[in-house]
Amino acid sequence: MQGTVLVIGSGVAGLTYALKVAEFARVILITKKEDTESNTNYAQGGIAAVMAPEDALEFHVRDTLVAGAGLCHRDAVEQMVREGPSLVRQLIEWGARFSLDAGAETPRLSLGREGGHSHHRIVHAQDLTGREVERTLITAVQNHPNIEVHEHHAALELITAERDGVREVLGVTALDRRNDRVQAVFADATLLATGGAGHVYLYTTNPSIATGDGVAIAHRAGARIANMEFIQFHPTTLYHPEARSFLISEAVRGDGGILKLRDGTPFMDAYHPMASLAPRDVVARAIDSELQRTGDDYVHLDVTHLSPEFTKSRFPNIYARCLELGIDITRDPIPVVPAAHYSCGGVLTDLEGRASLGRLYAVGEAACTGVHGANRLASNSLLEALVFADHAAADTRELLRQRRAPPESADDRTLEANDEVRRSREVSPPFVAQLRLLVQTLMWAHVGIVRSDRRLQQAQREVEILREAVESLFAASRVTVELMELRNITQVAWLIIECALRRKESRGLNFNSDHPERDDTHWVKDTIIE
Ligand SMILES: Cc1cc2nc3c(=O)[nH]c(=O)nc-3n(C[C@H](O)[C@H](O)[C@H](O)COP(=O)(O)OP(=O)(O)OC[C@H]3O[C@@H](n4cnc5c(N)ncnc54)[C@H](O)[C@@H]3O)c2cc1C
Repeated sequence: MQGTVLVIGSGVAGLTYALKVAEFARVILITKKEDTESNTNYAQGGIAAVMAPEDALEFHVRDTLVAGAGLCHRDAVEQMVREGPSLVRQLIEWGARFSLDAGAETPRLSLGREGGHSHHRIVHAQDLTGREVERTLITAVQNHPNIEVHEHHAALELITAERDGVREVLGVTALDRRNDRVQAVFADATLLATGGAGHVYLYTTNPSIATGDGVAIAHRAGARIANMEFIQFHPTTLYHPEARSFLISEAVRGDGGILKLRDGTPFMDAYHPMASLAPRDVVARAIDSELQRTGDDYVHLDVTHLSPEFTKSRFPNIYARCLELGIDITRDPIPVVPAAHYSCGGVLTDLEGRASLGRLYAVGEAACTGVHGANRLASNSLLEALVFADHAAADTRELLRQRRAPPESADDRTLEANDEVRRSREVSPPFVAQLRLLVQTLMWAHVGIVRSDRRLQQAQREVEILREAVESLFAASRVTVELMELRNITQVAWLIIECALRRKESRGLNFNSDHPERDDTHWVKDTIIE
């Protein structure tokens, strides 16, 4: 073994990296809840990869660049598209069971098509792809002798030290939720794979773990953060009081679902030549604008014209969940609204997944690799995580080979976190929940699908006040996961607003009604916060 590597997060990014690093190092993996609780586990649609003979790498690259609205880093996109298919095959070798083409003489992957893709290239496991990926990876991780998994451990702060003018990461402080103890975990390299930040917003498709912890932690430690203004709102979340974050996959539109007003009129033709198959940002804005125009609370996604057998076998999970709620999607249109879904920005990395601090990597939704630009193409995120985890693992091998010991002493500032357990004052949980709701409501109302300078400025003023209040609470109280999540949500909200205020144009997912045009003269660049 060449050293110890710390992995924070047990979604596709953290697990893939852990498996690869475990070939040459000891891996400590910490994760905030149970090991399967991640955005990955909820991914329905699939993994985009060029697997069909009629498809080609250049088509996938082109589709990704078009969706990214001029801001994707071409080298990152090419790396992902080129290396993706073999990593999907590796997942299959590790045991992933993806859907096969029923009609084919020899077993062949069934490839779906989703919004923004010019070809059929979505590898899927019915509509439960993420669960299958997570199951495969967790099984392999649990069977690996070099990987220790610590569930219910929430990372709080990076431990850093400076050497020769370079800040390096030595590990993290983490809260063990079962005994409320904060401990320091040291490692030769650290990966942030903490996923997305959907819970910065009131409505989201993300599970509760998605509070932007990795981005907030990295920012506090001085890492560069990029493109946080580009939040993808999934256009079609089920509108139902008992299922606020149940997603109706993009694949439903890909396989023929049509968006209609409540009176049955299709409306997407007026917004984009691809109609219901238009990219997500176009669809989300179109729905937002139709809802404002009509005053309705939702629109319909209609699959009643498809054969019921096809609908039930292609979307068994969506069919069953809707049926539980009294909606038979083979007969009734599905009521849908947009919700915060994916963060294109994050901890800025290079092509090897290296962040701007020494010994720190970021992969998956917590990272900004340059792949997504101003808008993520559907099903590119699982693929991105596979490819960049692979690169980060190879780079970690090189880092450990150099056998350069980490700097000896950690900054006192970061280790102070150990004192937090001793603080006796506990903030009341309902108060924390109330503050969280305040931030989420503010972000939904002022920093949502359509933004304006005035609303962003107002949101920034309010978030700054909240941020100060939360920091004081955090400094003076016993640390709980809820309090640390509130702190991170508030910080990520600030980062989103700051990035959105800096970008004086509309591009991809960032639509500002005061700057409604795309400005290629000044804004073909990332928004980077030091
Ligand atoms: C409903 C839904 C459907 C989707 N469908 C698709 C799809 O079809 N195709 C596609 O490509 N993408 C899809 N996505 C997006 C994709 O699932 C995610 O971008 C991807 O899974 C992110 O993987 P990840 O490993 O970066 O993060 P995650 O899978 O979210 O994992 C993050 C991990 O970090 C842990 N964690 C977080 N904070 C801390 C902390 N402070 N300390 C310790 N651990 C922490 C979490 O517990 C979790 O284990 C979908 C997302 C959602 C929500």
